[in-house]
Amino acid sequence: MRSVLLALICGILAESVLAADPTASLRAVLLDAQQFDDVRAATLRLADFNAVVLRVDGSGESSRREIGRASATAQRHQLPCYFWIEVARCSALADMRPELMASLQGHPEWRRYFPKSTEPTDDEVVKTYPWVPIMSREGFDAQLARVTKLLDGLPTPAGLFLNDLQGAPSACGCGHPLCRWTTDYGPKRSTTKLGPDSAAQFVEAVSKATRVPRVIPVWATECEAHDKQTLCAGVGCYEGLCWKEFVKQLTPLAKRSEPLALLLPFREFERDLPIYPDHAGWIREAIELMQTQPARHRGTPIPPERLIAVLQGWDVSHREVMAQIAQAQLAGAGGFVVSQVPIDQSWEPRILKWK
Ligand SMILES: [Zn+2]
Ligand SMILES: [Zn+2]
Repeated sequence: MRSVLLALICGILAESVLAADPTASLRAVLLDAQQFDDVRAATLRLADFNAVVLRVDGSGESSRREIGRASATAQRHQLPCYFWIEVARCSALADMRPELMASLQGHPEWRRYFPKSTEPTDDEVVKTYPWVPIMSREGFDAQLARVTKLLDGLPTPAGLFLNDLQGAPSACGCGHPLCRWTTDYGPKRSTTKLGPDSAAQFVEAVSKATRVPRVIPVWATECEAHDKQTLCAGVGCYEGLCWKEFVKQLTPLAKRSEPLALLLPFREFERDLPIYPDHAGWIREAIELMQTQPARHRGTPIPPERLIAVLQGWDVSHREVMAQIAQAQLAGAGGFVVSQVPIDQSWEPRILKWK
């Protein structure tokens, strides 16, 4: 049934949106290995998709076997096979080493979502569960070891997407899911802070350790001016540090990585607002922000053709998938990945002793 539905969606896409794009740019679907078989591969081919991206999230024997099987299927159908690893949001690592998580300090506006969360004492800090960013020495090392282990023994993919190389959501404490410029907005630290080039360093380290030919960082934009009274709950972080720090982190990363992916699940990020044309219009705006914001903060604008738009294919209608692709193409994005698996971006506060 799913395949038939997909064939239907894809058929419409192939005729309407995709046919307009004669370039060999990436047009991929992100799936779990279990969802990918001969029928799905043939359907993707027919619908003019030109690659598959498989989520890699377990290093157990059975998941390894599934990835191996799915990679072989892709090869049989001459579909380049990429892998996708969720980096920062990792409950296994957060449970094992809670001190590596990002924290919620600074503004208390996030508490509107968690009114029962208690105030931390002096030797406690509120951590953003389960987010373990690579922006600290300890988080970086633990995540590098984890990513290397996840890929160990798997076939070499055409490329590797690394998602969430920034801080955790609600970084300044405002509660905005896209405020991600820091890991600890306050003095209570349980890790050693790295410089703004940590994402660039991480991509470099993963490339060296795994020898995957192309490591593609997946980046997210920050809050926007019109969010001030809504998602930022009155906090002036848009005109404050968000974009300034964003540009400091993006600049070295853009120097290191030619293709960059942009995480654009418009509904997951609460961006399906009536102010955006066709609801998915935020996607076009976000791609433009990658040019206008670096220009505002003495960085290098990222031309849209360097960006691979990561779109929301879960919990949306067929029409909304098409609207997202249309917006990405209108903005001039170099390619797109429609994720059929949910990319979970949720978080919750956890109190921890930090000393
Ligand atoms: Zn903020
Ligand atoms: Zn912000």
